Amino acid sequence: MPMRILVVNAGSSSLKSQLIETDGKVSLMKCLAEKVGTPDAYMNVAFAPDFQKVTYHVADMTVAECLKKLLEVLVDDPESPISDLSQIDAIGNRIVAGGEHFTKSVIIDGPAREKLELCEELAPLHNPPADACIDMMAALMPSTPQVAVFDTAFHATMPAKAYMYPLPARYYDDYRIRRYGAHGTSHRYAAQQAANLLGRPLRDLGLITCHLGNGGSITAVNHGKSIDTTMGFTPLEGLMMGTRSGSIDPAILTYIMRREGISFDEMDAVLNRESGVLGVSGLSADMRDVLAAADAGNEQARLAIDMYVYRVQKAIGGFYAAMTRTDAVVMTAGIGENSAELRELIFEGLAHMGMILDRERNHVVGQIGVNRIISIDDSPIKICVVTTDEEMRIARETDNLVSQLG
Ligand code: ADP
Repeated sequence: MPMRILVVNAGSSSLKSQLIETDGKVSLMKCLAEKVGTPDAYMNVAFAPDFQKVTYHVADMTVAECLKKLLEVLVDDPESPISDLSQIDAIGNRIVAGGEHFTKSVIIDGPAREKLELCEELAPLHNPPADACIDMMAALMPSTPQVAVFDTAFHATMPAKAYMYPLPARYYDDYRIRRYGAHGTSHRYAAQQAANLLGRPLRDLGLITCHLGNGGSITAVNHGKSIDTTMGFTPLEGLMMGTRSGSIDPAILTYIMRREGISFDEMDAVLNRESGVLGVSGLSADMRDVLAAADAGNEQARLAIDMYVYRVQKAIGGFYAAMTRTDAVVMTAGIGENSAELRELIFEGLAHMGMILDRERNHVVGQIGVNRIISIDDSPIKICVVTTDEEMRIARETDNLVSQLG
């Protein structure tokens, strides 16, 4: 049975939402609210087929209040495909951190809602607004099933040697400090799409999936299972990202905090919001701006790109060593899908490992939504580009679980 699913992707200061008809896998409404919680907050809502954006001011509202406003628009707007909330069959919620409590997507019943509470401290910026959205929807639409889809769930298969940190054991025992990873839905999807492209079952393949967007992470997917990933206890570990530092010597934190007398929160903001591509380039977190500046001769921008590329190369090389076989490297998300220039820089350095880019194929601008192979025909390890659509994937998971309810 086709379902209309409202996908809710609540961020720390953003809300992404889509109304998706799962039968034809089509989006009927797209919403993006940004700068949420500030006086400048706005929310763009667009309906199929034209997706003409209408902007609403949502100054100083919480993420859950923005969602409530979106529901009003959904019911009232003459362009909307629904006129009553009962026409929404299910709600799919993206949850950043599921900790050890959730290893797969779940229907949100009483016990699941209680366990979600326990996960809040693992992603204090992201999980609480998502939980607030769940509660708001439950109050407004109590008989509509809600599903939680976790960024961490795909990584539940990592072995202890990959997820444990070399810290005193009590920190794991007392606080469950370990690697959880993130972007799991994206890595899972990228791996499955690559298997389809290669025409082989996922269980037979060794894949390295690279989600390179504003946030970035790389995962070793051995026989369909995540065996290691670059993000850690939080999404701060691993690659250099738009505004996050990724992995650095942890002693730098205590050194800076002592030298500058800054607080934990201030240090946290430096690492999460002021570092990475933005911090090094001094210009922008957006790779397009930084690439343009580097081409125009800006040396800091060039350094930021060199560092970004080098860290991606080292992560791919590390996971090559971690796996028993590597059949393909899969590129996805904003940078991975769209930047032929960065892909060329990354794979220039990896040809000796058998990942050989076809320059022409790399530069062909892919049709939106069409996955492709961009390595030469006899490259021992294939290079694939896969288009990600997080909301669509959440809708599919939601459909699967709700259909089982009967
Ligand atoms: P998010 O992690 O926010 O979901 P996305 O996957 O949408 O991020 O990726 C956003 C990033 O993708 C932007 O910050 C930008 O740097 C990058 N990007 C998008 N298109 C291009 C392009 N053509 N060239 C280089 N970078 C791009």
